[in-house]
Amino acid sequence: MKNAVQIKELEKHYVLKSETVRALRGVSFDIPQGDYVAIMGPSGSGKSTLLNLLGCLDRPTLGSYFLGEDDVAQMSDDDLSAIRASRLGFVFQSYNLIAQLTVVENIEVPLYYMGRLGPKARERSIKLAKMVGLGDRLDHRPTQLSGGQQQRVAIARSLVNDPYFILADEATGNLDSVTTDEIMALFQRLNDEGRTIIMVTHEDEVAEHAKRVIRLRDGLIQSDTHNVERKLFPPERLHTVLEHDTAIA
Ligand code: ADP
Ligand code: MG
Repeated sequence: MKNAVQIKELEKHYVLKSETVRALRGVSFDIPQGDYVAIMGPSGSGKSTLLNLLGCLDRPTLGSYFLGEDDVAQMSDDDLSAIRASRLGFVFQSYNLIAQLTVVENIEVPLYYMGRLGPKARERSIKLAKMVGLGDRLDHRPTQLSGGQQQRVAIARSLVNDPYFILADEATGNLDSVTTDEIMALFQRLNDEGRTIIMVTHEDEVAEHAKRVIRLRDGLIQSDTHNVERKLFPPERLHTVLEHDTAIA
């Protein structure tokens, strides 16, 4: 199977006035297309740093990173932006929604940056809003939504460019368990459709949905294991997923 991601001896140093923080100290792994990985580890172990590198939001200090065939460690900022826009979907812990925009408009934002707004974009955005269970909230603004609903907007937004690779940093960190479950079912469905998912989480109940768990400690890989106890949602759960608005966060 082709690799979606291949990193070798990846290091990230943050140079501060008084010291250099070595947030990643030589991390290597391959992620085949269609994999579903949970990245875990204590606070400060380098999870977000790693996810930001994988998401092309930042460049490594040392080491190599191939995304598909592309050597992204060497790319210019413009090329990185283009890769993000065309291939990656990013879900942040703080949803980063734009307060002045409606649900539908927020979902469309990545298309705006690609110069692709128009009737087709609108259609797709509405379809995604419905898929995440916000069909009756299309014209709401972020402040009029619960935390769970805002996170669903962020997830719909991450899918609007039809990414083959989804990265999520504590995507369910602020959500109640019912909404968390719904989002995990949505992730399973997206992964079943062939999309590669990498999510950072500190919750065992979230990680148990992934196919594989990578644990970081002090900027190094502590373990990288196949999730033998993987928790799967039954098919009927995937069809009805997010169709009911049960968010109470
Ligand atoms: P995690 O997501 O696992 O909590 P991070 O990747 O955010 O860990 O941070 C790893 C280490 O790098 C921590 O020691 C943190 O303080 C440091 N760090 C993260 N971002 C920066 C930055 N922009 N400047 C300096 N140090 C940073
Ligand atoms: Mg973090």
